Amino acid sequence: MDTIRSFEQEALECLTALYEPSEAREIARQLLEEVRGCTRTQLLLLSKDTLLSPAECARLERMLHDLSAGTPLQYVLGHTYFAGHRLTVAPGVLIPRPETEELIELILQHPESRASQRLLDVGTGSGCIAYALTAALPEVKQSVALEVSSEAAPIAEANFEALRKATGREVYLWKHDLFALLEKHTPPMPPLDLIVSNPPYIHPEEAEEMTPQVLLHEPHLALFAPEASPIAYYIALAELVAQGYLRSGGNLWVELNPLYATATEEAMLERIGRQHAKTKLIHDLSGKVRFLHLTYCPAE
Ligand code: GLN
Repeated sequence: MDTIRSFEQEALECLTALYEPSEAREIARQLLEEVRGCTRTQLLLLSKDTLLSPAECARLERMLHDLSAGTPLQYVLGHTYFAGHRLTVAPGVLIPRPETEELIELILQHPESRASQRLLDVGTGSGCIAYALTAALPEVKQSVALEVSSEAAPIAEANFEALRKATGREVYLWKHDLFALLEKHTPPMPPLDLIVSNPPYIHPEEAEEMTPQVLLHEPHLALFAPEASPIAYYIALAELVAQGYLRSGGNLWVELNPLYATATEEAMLERIGRQHAKTKLIHDLSGKVRFLHLTYCPAE
């Protein structure tokens, strides 16, 4: 391989087992854009006989090798797009999903969100939720992202640093465990306006239906809920609310497992007190119940 033409040919052959030809062609272009640091238009304007340097060839070979071993494209490129933002990703974090972009959209469309000043993202991973909300909500003064994974934390940090450089807005990365935090009973003063979370929610028994690309390459800590209690994280989030982390009238939004949607709603209402919260389950674009919106209304 030493020209664009020969690379595209090699990519097609190499990726045929895992990708449709049209997808493989698209991937080859994305790899070329990444390695040459050019846009799609610039790439398409180049002659197919353009020579690739030995360094470019070596990098492209490595990328093709990783892709044919099943590594997701986003990890190979080192970035992905989420809610219109380019974010760094690496194998220590879950690749942000389109459903989570829908969650961001729901939150941004909700009339009360715009006034939010203090927000918390629990289990931030790549930082995608905290990043997108902090970039979009005009009144945010304090934005905190909780993450326990040592692999994920530096990636979230890198994204938050990029956000700070681009917009001047800051997200504070708090490297802490949710369950350990609950032990302390130290809700913030004043309490938060908005809590958001996309915790691990796949039951280990569902692993059989997952693709090897997800199962072998993405962090299980971010994917799988505890076997004994697949909604344990949601009960912990409800506990945060019950401890006073969310102000009266504040909103909590979570992404959840459609299989446990009602059980999740019931358990959270149970923990907070049925009379102290209003909840709504919301469908995603594929028609599955995927989100829960909870408004906290404690007795005054
Ligand atoms: N939505 C992710 C998936 O389908 C799972 C993420 C999670 O458990 N929060 O792979």
